Amino acid sequence: MNLDFTDDEIRRYSRNILLQEVGGIGQARLRSARVLVVGAGGLGSPLLLYLAAAGVGTIGLVDDDVVDISNLQRQIAHTTASIGTPKVESAAAAARAINPGVTIEAHQTRLTAGNALELAARYDLVCDGTDNFATRFLVADACVLARRTLVSAAVLRFDGQLAVFKPHAGQDFPCYRCLYPEPPPPGMVPSCSEAGVLGAVTGVMGTLQATEALKELLGVGESLAGRLLIWDGLATRFRLVRLKRDPECPACGANATLRDLSGHVAAPETACAV
Ligand SMILES: [Zn+2]
Repeated sequence: MNLDFTDDEIRRYSRNILLQEVGGIGQARLRSARVLVVGAGGLGSPLLLYLAAAGVGTIGLVDDDVVDISNLQRQIAHTTASIGTPKVESAAAAARAINPGVTIEAHQTRLTAGNALELAARYDLVCDGTDNFATRFLVADACVLARRTLVSAAVLRFDGQLAVFKPHAGQDFPCYRCLYPEPPPPGMVPSCSEAGVLGAVTGVMGTLQATEALKELLGVGESLAGRLLIWDGLATRFRLVRLKRDPECPACGANATLRDLSGHVAAPETACAV
């Protein structure tokens, strides 16, 4: 690993490098890391900006949508001037403005059964910030097949959830389908476009997601894998729930039936970021 830093890099990352858990080696590890962010929306905005600011060397960003005025209440990587432009371009410009030293790979496309596995495999770690179950299950299955750690955040109204899934790392670690074996019937769980979400709530959850992604890349602290963080923003209450691996899980169990992504035929109907 290349441990040479320019004077500018040392100044830029000095508050990271000062941390015993990061140091020069950790900063070099971040610089050589590749992270895929799925969804350039309310979660993806703070997530992308903090990963770029922290010096994650290569960040892929997937989204096929364009910036709409109704996004700006929470999607802080975009501006009023960027209404009508592709979200990946707008968000990539914001990230590059913070840190021109990182590479942003903009994928202006919808994640599909045809491209999800190949995209996930090109990165070390995947972060899901999407707002529909079809895409969530697609990302989760692609990560199991590609053996990539998935940092998954979700928000609705004043509530948030966060989990890390890495079944490839050991028997103690569940996958997304150990928690949710199948998508809920359409219409069962409202989306943010139906039920609303407070913008700051997406900011908190996207920032927690960035923190857990950086912890996984650095290999420091206590991994969230195997636990689910639930935040009730109205009550100001965080709680952690233990997640167990399901031996009968269709994706990671002993008799798993997941072999490829061919079961994900229907493309999500709605734009994919929160
Ligand atoms: Zn599983």
